[in-house]
Amino acid sequence: MPASSVRETADVVVIGAGIQGLSAAWHLAKFGIRDVALVEKSTVGSGSSRWSASMLMKQMWGEWQQRFSAYTFQRYAAFADDTGYDAGFVRTGTLTLVTPDVAEQEREFVNIRRRHGVETQILTPDEVVRLAPVLSGQEIGFGVYGPEDGVLDTPNILRGWRSSAQTLGVRIYEGRRATGLEMEGRRIAAVQTTAGPIATRFAVNAAGSDADEVGAWAGLRIPLLNRVRNIFLVERPPQLNSRVYVMDAATHWYFRSDNGEVLVGMGARRDAPVQDRPDMDYWPEMRDMCLRKAPALAHAIIRGGGSGIRPLTPDERPVVGPVRQVQGFINNCGWGGVGIMNAPVGGQLVAEQICNGRTSTFDVTPFLLERFGAR
Ligand SMILES: Cc1cc2nc3c(=O)[nH]c(=O)nc-3n(C[C@H](O)[C@H](O)[C@H](O)COP(=O)(O)OP(=O)(O)OC[C@H]3O[C@@H](n4cnc5c(N)ncnc54)[C@H](O)[C@@H]3O)c2cc1C
Repeated sequence: MPASSVRETADVVVIGAGIQGLSAAWHLAKFGIRDVALVEKSTVGSGSSRWSASMLMKQMWGEWQQRFSAYTFQRYAAFADDTGYDAGFVRTGTLTLVTPDVAEQEREFVNIRRRHGVETQILTPDEVVRLAPVLSGQEIGFGVYGPEDGVLDTPNILRGWRSSAQTLGVRIYEGRRATGLEMEGRRIAAVQTTAGPIATRFAVNAAGSDADEVGAWAGLRIPLLNRVRNIFLVERPPQLNSRVYVMDAATHWYFRSDNGEVLVGMGARRDAPVQDRPDMDYWPEMRDMCLRKAPALAHAIIRGGGSGIRPLTPDERPVVGPVRQVQGFINNCGWGGVGIMNAPVGGQLVAEQICNGRTSTFDVTPFLLERFGAR
């Protein structure tokens, strides 16, 4: 038989090598499924996982997020043992600025966190400004401080899962776009790609902001709400003397300081450019917000920046797990603004589902696509 007619096969094809696709591939290999093909249309980590604030937090916003957070803190602490690479967690603390319009909701979040045993302090406006003297103190009703939160080293996490997965046998194909599915009745038979089909019984949809397109190949409608968020890297003003991550609860404007620079983020725009440079058309909006909240940041020199998509869903929960209509089609998408910190959850659930036919670490029911009444 000529080599060209030999059909490529894999036990599982993962579509998309962002942090969630890499995590899924690595977890599958760890579970013993090593014949995994991970296809990426561009390069590993070049999608939403490229521009993120990389926060890992216990100050979350609801029950399921709180449960995931407890798990991911443990998993990232063990990351070096798992992969040989350091997840690079640095504890910075997080400080949420609460304005009166969102005070009730934020108090409820505080109650939930405390019920989960998470240390959460309520601060007066004076205490807030003492903790972060770069703040103007305007508009603040109270602050919520979480000392245990911090920042991850996302590029190193991507390196770790990539390298460890490849060592375990996962094949990672960059520059290879998945283009469709072949079906045998209601079961996945192959994933079509720009470099030929890969025969398989399982396809994992980890295509980030393109997950709706991948779902459509299986006749599914994944209701993604892709929203662009911008990041500007500005020179650190002298008033900014701590690394605490500061976020305004009502507007989701935030900043955190690294070594020489401050990362300032904001935005939930529908059709804005996604790029590896600061979006200067958006800067006036960002600058106005800085002027209100932390004027020194508005005047700081811009050193860089970029923008990325947060693939949200209508109920702000991810879409994870199997679908009734198509056997072998497993979702791991819709992670919105929490896909970095929750990458160990997504990968673990995908591997459990494929290996055991069910999940055990978390009940996947609240995250199934069918909650949207999808076809
Ligand atoms: C500015 C910003 C700040 C953020 N801050 C945080 C934070 O602090 N903490 C946090 O946890 N999360 C944060 N997020 C959210 C986080 O970045 C995302 O939830 C996460 O990156 C999603 O990962 P993913 O693997 O699902 O998607 P992606 O990283 O987008 O990966 C999907 C991949 O699929 C590929 N792909 C798509 N279609 C195909 C196809 N047909 N064939 C092959 N490949 C395909 C894409 O090229 C891409 O590489 C932030 C996001 C933004 C934009």
